[in-house]
Amino acid sequence: MNGAERYFALAGERGELGHAFLLEGEDPEVLLKTAGRIAQRILCEKGTACGVCESCRAALSGNHPDIITVTHEKPDTLSVGEIRAQLVDDMEIRPYRSARKIYLVPDAGKMNPQAQNALLKTLEEPPAYGMILLLADNRNRFLPTVLSRVATLRCEEESGGEEKETSGSARLIRLLRRLQTADAAELAKAASELKSDGVSAEETFELLTYLWRDELIVKAGGKTRLRFAEAADMLEDWAEALSWADEDRVFAAIQEGKAKLKANGNPDVALEVFLLELRELLRKA
Ligand SMILES: [Zn+2]
Repeated sequence: MNGAERYFALAGERGELGHAFLLEGEDPEVLLKTAGRIAQRILCEKGTACGVCESCRAALSGNHPDIITVTHEKPDTLSVGEIRAQLVDDMEIRPYRSARKIYLVPDAGKMNPQAQNALLKTLEEPPAYGMILLLADNRNRFLPTVLSRVATLRCEEESGGEEKETSGSARLIRLLRRLQTADAAELAKAASELKSDGVSAEETFELLTYLWRDELIVKAGGKTRLRFAEAADMLEDWAEALSWADEDRVFAAIQEGKAKLKANGNPDVALEVFLLELRELLRKA
């Protein structure tokens, strides 16, 4: 999470989310990814960007009907026609399935003055469900009338090496892919990283339950309707390696982990124990 995301997480918890923002930063990709994560969190059924709920799955697949990314045809201009059709007029239509409808506007600095003016009324009086995230490299590209109607947030990927994962599920799957070669210290570190990303042990076990349901579908020879289609190759390897008795053991270990958490066990330990058990079964196979 970078600073802008933390802002939205806090404002969301307090129920103080505004309607119009300018995310300012040098890297357009970082801006768009950050805006996508912010939108995912706001629309998440649990308010956490859990990665599990229907809304998060739709957001992660890029097909959320209430997250709209405004596009432009000419490389250097975002025209008034494009702003009207894709944002101003579209916002009149109520959200499809969520409480909010969120517009991401990459290259918003390429709006000419006409396009910016077309946006003013919507910025001033958006419907209660409407939210606009303008993305740009420099706030000086905007008219003062626009700037006075948006909250500007600086947005940079935090340094510290590897790229931040988009969600708990992406992080978990990455961890599981390394499971067979990781040593205990690496597992402990990865488990605590999940938590520092705001994914609780309860949520991790919930993700594991869904993942294991996918694994059983794959084991039974099915491949369609997987919740974690991005992990299908890993699940196929596991399905081949694990016997049905092993499958039962893993399922039991997930249930055991959940029970430990309910009994107020140490969440880090519960997760590590599970990961070590799964690793043993995979290595033995
Ligand atoms: Zn969610």
